[in-house]
Amino acid sequence: MNKRHIPTLYLVVPCYNEEEVIEKTAIILKEKMNALMDAGRIEHDSKVLFVNDGSTDATLRMLHDLAKKDSFYGVLSFAGNYGHQSAILAGMMEARFYADAVVTIDADLQQDIDALEKFLDAYMAGAEVVYGVRNDRKTDGFFKKSTATLYYKLMHALGSGALANSADYRLMSAKALDALSEYEESSLFLRGLIPSMGLPSDIVYFDVKEREAGKSKYTFGKMMTLALDGITSSSIRPLRMIGVIGFITVIAAIVMVIFSIIDWANGNAVQGYTTTLIVTLVLGGVILVSLGVMGEYLGKTYMETKHRPRYIVDSVVLRECRRKDE
Ligand code: UDP
Ligand code: MG
Repeated sequence: MNKRHIPTLYLVVPCYNEEEVIEKTAIILKEKMNALMDAGRIEHDSKVLFVNDGSTDATLRMLHDLAKKDSFYGVLSFAGNYGHQSAILAGMMEARFYADAVVTIDADLQQDIDALEKFLDAYMAGAEVVYGVRNDRKTDGFFKKSTATLYYKLMHALGSGALANSADYRLMSAKALDALSEYEESSLFLRGLIPSMGLPSDIVYFDVKEREAGKSKYTFGKMMTLALDGITSSSIRPLRMIGVIGFITVIAAIVMVIFSIIDWANGNAVQGYTTTLIVTLVLGGVILVSLGVMGEYLGKTYMETKHRPRYIVDSVVLRECRRKDE
């Protein structure tokens, strides 16, 4: 592996209604990046690129104020709220033209920015992707913690390559981002997709802190969508499982028929009402769940065939930067 140069690093920060934290975040990130520049770890044209995911509060105005005063900050703004995954994707796709490496980090600074050195170490050692994996979940509530653990177990069983407890705190090299840009699917689950690319990677462990201010922008609905997308966009194992369940049911049915015939031949009375009811209900349930799973995939296929844009960029403010290919 050829030796790497000190990278131009872009931090991509998705923001959705983050007016309470954004100014503080901007200052802390700048201090950290300045320290890295002074230490000769990153180039002096490194920047922070905020992605405004259709905020309805003062976030966008605040971001534009920051970018106006200081060219260290860039702002990409969406026309609407397309979600966290789209926001980080858009930020990375913009930043790859200017940066050698991009790190995505949440606006609430729950992810420890002092892990950046470790990300850079791994990058300098040749990793194209460096995953941030959280040390523990002690700042999450009981509900989020247990659902997350269960979810990763389920994901694994269903054949998704997502790393357990990996957050979207991650470094990607320009090469990895170019590879990512080749993927055209509209339902994106980056945590599952990126490991499946197979590029040389490394892991960095980091601590999770409390949110600086404001509330979690991940509503229960958004979490469920992300969870479902994670499974259906990286695996078709649920579809196969329907086939397996159907097969088992058929075997069970055959066994029951044989027993019924034997019973009948022996002159026993016909099985009771309860048995019939249970069988009907179980089968009905299995069929409906199966239909639901198939419907989920069918819907996904339908949405993919439309080839809709993943997001609409309303505006980009990025000053004093130079594209690498110019
Ligand atoms: N976020 C976003 N779009 C959304 C929801 C969240 O860009 O629709 C951003 C949010 O501003 C934050 C990050 O995604 O920077 C993570 O969100 P949050 O901290 O609310 O999630 P949690 O830490 O509770 O999982
Ligand atoms: Mg958070």
